Amino acid sequence: LIFDASFNTWFYRALVLLVVACPCALVISTPVTIVSGLTRAARSGILIKGGNYLEAMAKVDAVVLDKTGTITIGKPEVVEVISLNSLPEDKILSMSASVESASEHPIGRAVVAKARVEKIQLSEVTDFQAITGKGVVGKIAGKNVLVGTRALLNDFNVNTNLSENKITALEAEAKTTMLTAVNGEVVGAVAVADEIKEGAAEAIAKIKKMGYQVAILTGDNRETAAAIAKKLQMTHVLAEVLPHEKVAEIQRLQRELGKVAMIGDGINDAPALTQADVGIAVGTGTDIAIESADITLVRGDLKSVASAIKLSRATFRKIKQNLFWAFFYNVVAIPLAVSGLLHPVIAEIAMASSSVTVVSNANLLKRLRL
Ligand code: ADP
Ligand code: MG
Repeated sequence: LIFDASFNTWFYRALVLLVVACPCALVISTPVTIVSGLTRAARSGILIKGGNYLEAMAKVDAVVLDKTGTITIGKPEVVEVISLNSLPEDKILSMSASVESASEHPIGRAVVAKARVEKIQLSEVTDFQAITGKGVVGKIAGKNVLVGTRALLNDFNVNTNLSENKITALEAEAKTTMLTAVNGEVVGAVAVADEIKEGAAEAIAKIKKMGYQVAILTGDNRETAAAIAKKLQMTHVLAEVLPHEKVAEIQRLQRELGKVAMIGDGINDAPALTQADVGIAVGTGTDIAIESADITLVRGDLKSVASAIKLSRATFRKIKQNLFWAFFYNVVAIPLAVSGLLHPVIAEIAMASSSVTVVSNANLLKRLRL
């Protein structure tokens, strides 16, 4: 065929060159591969808002996880009520729950639920105020009641030093402990526990093993965050970060560690999810978090984070392979066409095969085990 003189005219050579120089495989290779990657992700409950986020995910250096609702189930339960002066425990629970009854925070709901289970009467509260990331304030029968962190009490000039030992002990057991103060004096503490999600430890170990820095970012106190981190064998803990400070913490990590993926669930995580190079929302979280994120993990399972990283890396390996193949066909075929060694039929076959190769290779992504 090749030596058949009838096709080896200038006219045919030009025609063959036109066919083999067509970069169709090159043009389709990247979008086809990205669509395969996005499809594979969606099948595992990882919803990605666009191919660019799949690319950003492959370039991430560090993974930051919110604690409450992301690492933990996000359903705190009261596990202990202690008196720190003469008031009985049920009175402390009653006052705390009364103020918390106007709170929308999961901790507030947990305290109210406990009071209900214990059939404790709640009192009327006036002048209620929720202080973001710190706790709640209100008046019961003319008395000023505060329920929240040390920082909240200190803001109202309440000395928390005397209760320090007792609460630190509870926090070391991974319990989040709120102090209750009445008229400027600490009267007791309410400790809540929030279970770590099943499989969270394995998922975090896997992400670390893939070579990423992993950090916890939480508004909760240092001791509790450290206790949770210890259970998960994590060393990087950023605690007592107020909601508006979360963005600044992400910016700092971006300067120190490079590209950051942030995983969160709450309203208070939304700005940080936007700031991060890749924002990932837990599907069981708030609408605002999902809205702000680039990726949503439908199952709320942290193993999906490792899967998303693995898939994004695989997608980019495939894109490179496909670019190679697309180029390969053109680079080999063009000189042959110019020198008149390529029959038009062979040229057509080569160009069709290059597209088929690229599409088939991209489709292999859909079978990737995550
Ligand atoms: P996270 O970052 O873990 O989701 P937040 O920023 O919502 O936490 O809250 C930080 C801390 O502030 C809580 O761990 C808790 O100690 C305290 N806090 C927040 N809201 C309340 C509340 N309604 N009652 C008592 N304490 C609260
Ligand atoms: Mg949270």
